[in-house]
Amino acid sequence: MAQTNSLCYTEIVWKSDVKNMETTFYHELTTTSLQGELLSDDCCKKILTASEVGLLPLLDAAYQVRKTYFQNTVQLHILNNAQNGYCPEDCHYCAQASSATADIEAYPLKPDAEILAEAERAYESGAYRYCIVMSGRGPSPKRVAHLAELIRAVKTRYPIEVCLSAGLIDIEAAHTLKAAGLDRLNHNLNTSEAHYPKICSTHSYQDRMETLQAAQKVGLACCSGIIVGMGEEISDLIEVAKELRCLEVASLPVNFFLPISGTQLSEFAPAQRNVSITLTPDYCLRVLCLYRFLNPRAEIRVAAGREHYLRSMEVMALYPANSMFIEGYLNAAGTGTARTLQMIEDAGFTVKTNGDGAKQLKESEKKKADVLLKELKVLRPRMASST
Ligand code: SF4
Repeated sequence: MAQTNSLCYTEIVWKSDVKNMETTFYHELTTTSLQGELLSDDCCKKILTASEVGLLPLLDAAYQVRKTYFQNTVQLHILNNAQNGYCPEDCHYCAQASSATADIEAYPLKPDAEILAEAERAYESGAYRYCIVMSGRGPSPKRVAHLAELIRAVKTRYPIEVCLSAGLIDIEAAHTLKAAGLDRLNHNLNTSEAHYPKICSTHSYQDRMETLQAAQKVGLACCSGIIVGMGEEISDLIEVAKELRCLEVASLPVNFFLPISGTQLSEFAPAQRNVSITLTPDYCLRVLCLYRFLNPRAEIRVAAGREHYLRSMEVMALYPANSMFIEGYLNAAGTGTARTLQMIEDAGFTVKTNGDGAKQLKESEKKKADVLLKELKVLRPRMASST
């Protein structure tokens, strides 16, 4: 484990006048991160909560780290819910859980032809990575063999990275999937070990860790992240960020809890589910900055909830994060692809793609983005109603 260094806001206050203190603090966040050193828990807490830590210089400090490893590129991911619902697990945040009464469209594993057609569409729309997501506790050996065949077919046909999220897997399954050409395995930690029993009773944090360790043992890159806003404490968020750092995850989705009606967590009012933290745009951006400082080389994805919580500040997420989903999330819609692509371009970032699909898509979507003119009945309602 990396060593904790002593970077701490108050120490800098003692050494400098106020103006230099601020510059030094943000600069040291960047250099500490780039040097591969760890921030103290106290410093992490200040990033998330201290009003004297300004959001804009914080974003700039995180951006310096992001730029070092990813320049101004953005990786786009498209999710394919290859199987939706019918899950025996009871993750309290999930619309597909056995305990959820959410109004979702449940279906068993899609036919191969449909999954392959969606892989083609993902490639053509400029996605860097195609994520196959299945509900369920984990795949049977027969299902693993089937998934391996599918992954082989996608990798043979399209130059696109493939990520799989299939629940708990053991080392044999990880080996089979790796041999089939799988690039990444997704399995989120979601929250800290201490908080885990409050969000799921059918499997443990340790089960999740063992899946990630199995993937690592066979050389599969891991994608693992968090869901912010499930009643955790600040210390839980810091702990998970440091755990993911120890695991050296290649990819780190930062989700913000979307309260879908019918999920156990959303059925409780914020006070009842012990939500002491409000997911303001400011707070969400601070979380992204913290995760960037602690995981400087990871592909950090601003994932579910970006539109819902960041609102008009959405574009600012590109400064700490270098990755996002297009076309929505597992059971929640997102903003349209054209709008996301436009936002990326407007902010001076470029899409990292395996082909020129993103460019083609943007050109075709542009035609639909003509300015709509107001009609007379909107411009002069009284006159229109009297005619
Ligand atoms: S998160 Fe996965 S394992 Fe948990 S209930 Fe949802 S689909 Fe099932």
